[in-house]
Amino acid sequence: MPGTVTVWEKDPALVGRFTTAPIPDVAKLPLAFNFPAARPYSSDKSTEDFRYWNAASTLRRAADFWAASSRPPAEWNGTAVLDVYLDRDVALQSKYDGQSLSFYHGSPVGHPEIVVYSGASPDLLCHELGHAVLDAIRPDLFDRGLLETDAFHESFGDISALLCATQLPTFCTAVLQETAGRNFWSNSSLSRVAEQFGAALRMEDPEQADTDCLRNAWNDHFYADPAGLNNTAPADEVAANPHSFSRVFTGAFFEILAGVLALKVGNQAAKAQDLQQVGCDMRDILMEALDDAPFGQNFYAAVAAAMVTASAGPGPRRGPAVQAIFQNVFVRRKIIAPAIV
Ligand SMILES: [Zn+2]
Repeated sequence: MPGTVTVWEKDPALVGRFTTAPIPDVAKLPLAFNFPAARPYSSDKSTEDFRYWNAASTLRRAADFWAASSRPPAEWNGTAVLDVYLDRDVALQSKYDGQSLSFYHGSPVGHPEIVVYSGASPDLLCHELGHAVLDAIRPDLFDRGLLETDAFHESFGDISALLCATQLPTFCTAVLQETAGRNFWSNSSLSRVAEQFGAALRMEDPEQADTDCLRNAWNDHFYADPAGLNNTAPADEVAANPHSFSRVFTGAFFEILAGVLALKVGNQAAKAQDLQQVGCDMRDILMEALDDAPFGQNFYAAVAAAMVTASAGPGPRRGPAVQAIFQNVFVRRKIIAPAIV
């Protein structure tokens, strides 16, 4: 074994984008994992050996990121060690079921020549890990059959994919180059979650994925009372199902992140460490808000209001200017009502 492994940065669709990290200790506490037996490392990305280390390195990095938050989970919900199944069965799917993370391989119907491993994508690894982190700190939210809490779970997964990507300096540098000269709140390799998997799903059913990835955090979806929405809809409309509806909250979160980054750097070009820092700050505000947002039908509004409060401070890089960004975006998205002054 070499001393380091080189694995995907964010998604296999981002061809040529790799990151190198020390051999991960998956059994490290807190937030340990139980993987199938370790495999030798291979840099051949079509192999099970590569996928093993890709998943081990990504999940370790993601768990360490959430464990470093201002409100860290002490352990997973009900266990110190989370089971991980890297290739559980044939399906276009990945899943957190309350006890374990499961990844699959599958082909879109009619396209046996295309085989997608969900566990090959750091976006999907970090998404499922996000479910597990949220379940650790808020076990009352998981799988409740209530649209806004189920949708928030999906959003938290996509937010986990976004924020974990912001912790890789090489990725930050690449996405800042990609977006140079335009608003960071735009379509980018950061905003596009799970491009490879989304392309496979779209071949089966265009309603199941956005046009350029699974779910794009750069969107302009607005909150609407789910009671007035259909359960399914074309991908460019919001439907009253958790994956579709999640894009309203994720879209607001990404818009705020871009606004906070712009505020931080002023008229300077953002550097990798600026984006990395904003990723940590957004994580902490979100985790603190989850201390205060009660379970209920209007959960989006509850979390958003708590994030607006947390963003005011005290704490470094918080205060009225930051709070105004949170407030304005959540109001514009109709997630919270305008403040009565
Ligand atoms: Zn999910």
